[in-house]
Amino acid sequence: MDSSMYFGLSTKLAKELVQAEQSGKPIPAGRFDFGVETACAGCKENIMPPKKISRCSACQAALYCSTQCAKRHWNETSSPHKSLCPHNKRHMQRLPETQAVVKSFPWGRLETDGTFNLEIARGRFSVLGGSGYGYWSHRGGTVPHAVGGFDASASTAPYAQFMQNLLKNLDHLNGYDLLKPNHLSDEQGWKLSPKFIPYRDFTKNKERRPLLVTKFDGGVVDWDSWYRWRKIPKDSPAALLMHFPMSVYQMLVHCLKITSPSAGCKSRRVNLNVHLLGVEVELNFVPLFSELALLLPFHDVQMTLVGPGAQRLLDKAKNYPSSIAIKCFSSPPSPIFTYSTPPECGSSTISIYLCTTTTWDPDTFPTPDALVACNAGLASYRDWFPVISIALFTHLPFASTEYTEQSAEYQRAYILTLLEASGSKLSDDPADNHPIELNPFHCPGQRAIPMFRLPNMFNGFTVVVHKTPEGGRKATSNELDAGMKAYERLVFGAA
Ligand SMILES: [Zn+2]
Ligand SMILES: [Zn+2]
Repeated sequence: MDSSMYFGLSTKLAKELVQAEQSGKPIPAGRFDFGVETACAGCKENIMPPKKISRCSACQAALYCSTQCAKRHWNETSSPHKSLCPHNKRHMQRLPETQAVVKSFPWGRLETDGTFNLEIARGRFSVLGGSGYGYWSHRGGTVPHAVGGFDASASTAPYAQFMQNLLKNLDHLNGYDLLKPNHLSDEQGWKLSPKFIPYRDFTKNKERRPLLVTKFDGGVVDWDSWYRWRKIPKDSPAALLMHFPMSVYQMLVHCLKITSPSAGCKSRRVNLNVHLLGVEVELNFVPLFSELALLLPFHDVQMTLVGPGAQRLLDKAKNYPSSIAIKCFSSPPSPIFTYSTPPECGSSTISIYLCTTTTWDPDTFPTPDALVACNAGLASYRDWFPVISIALFTHLPFASTEYTEQSAEYQRAYILTLLEASGSKLSDDPADNHPIELNPFHCPGQRAIPMFRLPNMFNGFTVVVHKTPEGGRKATSNELDAGMKAYERLVFGAA
């Protein structure tokens, strides 16, 4: 079964919403509400009318079905809300800021519960679908939220059940377009009206070529400036995909400071070797990472995509001898994507490779200048442990993004525990050495989370695992030796 039924329904509703908005007539309350089905943070049950939603009065982040449930959750033996509540209260202070970001886009509609329905937003532009939707193609779709919220009679359990059954049978392979012999053109990939497309090919669209970024006043520091630099109106939904390459840019330039737009010039080009770890949906729009070349004039960027998602794709690619993906098996491996920016933009290049092994291993690569990961959950997946430790102890710059500030802080605590366990004195001031920041290039809009209302966005917050003090400096061989010893101590115990 394909996902056309599921996505088709959301698109139909989105079009009805657009029509209602354009009619100028007031929209009846509850006629269009694409909020999430709420569940109780205490008993985990869905909160259905006539039951009313109550919030933790202290933090306003946790939702409950009753005051009894709230009380029980407060004192729970495992992870009581009592211990998280003061932190959640602090995290909630970001909410006006993150809501302002999504509201700054004409398509950035806040539902009555404060969440943002990504599928409805994409449905407005007819770019919601499993396959055949260019860069937007999302085989498998996302976990269904209450699309049924639009109509009280449809927002019942059987409806949600229907959606779930529909989704169960979908094919979840990411990077399907890399099984084809050629990359999609800008128009084929974006499937938007030309005025909404951030072009990478300027041969036919010279007037759309951005200014040499170092000449752009104020630089590219947030979505507003990016849209202006790219000469596209904020009516364009481009940010809904561009948050991935832009977050990588933010981590390299702002968080890790391993390079900057002004680091290179005509007479001095900059080489940059980056590993993007844990790739999944990133494989659906590899050409969009050409943005890094446009943002970094006079650079030669080499980026390697690593992760189980890449591995699944490569298993499949073996049956597609003329595919783009198969190129990474040649010796030496060929890039799966290359791009050069026009001289007016700084003549940069980017070459993107797929890693043919599942796990990241420092020995199978030339040491990169930096590691980055999007929506990583570093402390939640065991596979990250060796990567984090090696980055920490061999002075390899590494940053990642997280959905929430809470999980970013959880990661930082984990990093500090690893450092302590190894006997390392690397980190004195956590806030200075492992800063956590709201990512200005996060995917606009609150994710649909049933039990909590903390600011929670794709690529929401950046966290630094390790950075070198001067930025860009590679570890000396002494430091590498000491680092590997610290790592071995941590893994195998004291010798
Ligand atoms: Zn409850
Ligand atoms: Zn609370």
